[in-house]
Amino acid sequence: MSRTKALCPMRRRRVVILGATGSIGESARKVARDIPERMEIVGMSAHSNADKLHAAAKDFPNAKLAISSGPDGVERLVELATLPEADLVLIAIVGTGGLRPALAAIEAGKDIAVASKEILVMAGEAVMTAARRKGVQVLPVDSEHNAIFQCLEGRDSREVRRLILTASGGPFRQMPAAQLASVTVEQALKHPTWTMGAKITIDSATLFNKGLEMIEARWLFDVEMARVEVIVHPQSIVHSMVEFIDSSVLAQLSTTDMCFPIQYAVTWPERVPNSLPPLDFAKLARLDFEAPRLADFPALTLARTAGETGGTLPAVLNAANEIAVAAFLARRCSFPAIWETVARVMGEHRSIAGADLDAILSADSWARTRAAEVLGV
Ligand code: NDP
Ligand code: MG
Repeated sequence: MSRTKALCPMRRRRVVILGATGSIGESARKVARDIPERMEIVGMSAHSNADKLHAAAKDFPNAKLAISSGPDGVERLVELATLPEADLVLIAIVGTGGLRPALAAIEAGKDIAVASKEILVMAGEAVMTAARRKGVQVLPVDSEHNAIFQCLEGRDSREVRRLILTASGGPFRQMPAAQLASVTVEQALKHPTWTMGAKITIDSATLFNKGLEMIEARWLFDVEMARVEVIVHPQSIVHSMVEFIDSSVLAQLSTTDMCFPIQYAVTWPERVPNSLPPLDFAKLARLDFEAPRLADFPALTLARTAGETGGTLPAVLNAANEIAVAAFLARRCSFPAIWETVARVMGEHRSIAGADLDAILSADSWARTRAAEVLGV
């Protein structure tokens, strides 16, 4: 490596965190405390947890604050996302509530760092097109996509043969199919390798999380669904891989901590030292890989269908899944009812090709109503 390579002057990113009280929000605040010379928090939102937001604000006294649960919640989020002093907006809101603020941030010329995969599943084309038009960056925070982003380093998608997303397999990786019907909320909330918010933890158990991530990758990296694959890797150390057309594979590895991808999104294209634990390969000893159980976890095939069909179908999959996960968490449906509901609602939907944002939003709202009817909630 050349020692003479000139480093760009250090850039301190002024960051707004939408969803600052959640699991990603908490990791992002930790990164800001760890590398204060590179990351300053200038705005933070919570949905309803005002106490936690104010406690968090003690470390960042200059941050503007917003609560999004009121009737004008979206406007409050848009105000934060377009703050003149901000240059990067981290979307860490669970579900699709981050879509309008994300589009507003792009229009205001801000880069966005996206943890909320749901908005890319629902409206990936609209988000990426707007970002290209405004010349702003969409930086992936989801660990798999951040890993792929690191492996690609801006290479042309024509040099890519396959994007290989790794999946932990969730808590039921080895559970016989017949037992999945009696899975409890408590069992499903026990993720083997990551500690995350409730919705994504259930998505990891059904593998809808990985299904959403397949569609997310398709838009972030401009590759068609056929080139997006999933491999189960129970240790969650290899965060994803890229196979290039010369059959070489690059992978990104680190300990399982969301501070890694958040920091990279903030300091990109540079790397800076931090206090995160390095990998100890001797202790790790082994890394395992196995094929996903497609027949027992239909989420992956449903997501592939949605991603291949495109149009409004990914929004329908995402919306029906959100309703079904909420019903499962409220103990109003069984675990397999999550994918059964998504499959049924998708089956009833006629996808609109080349859908604009209005068509996507109305498909989203139809799917929510229909999923609730199917579930009887
Ligand atoms: P959490 O449930 O822990 O946090 C959600 C955050 O969003 C909280 O700040 C919450 O505020 C706020 N919020 C909830 N509902 C709304 C709403 N309707 N409108 C605006 N804000 C809302 O979620 P996570 O941090 O786990 O996940 C956030 C996103 O990041 C999800 O899209 C998830 O898929 C993605 N992600 C998460 C990972 C993780 O490790 N956790 C990994 C990769 C992606 P309040 O506290 O007031 O309720
Ligand atoms: Mg992920």
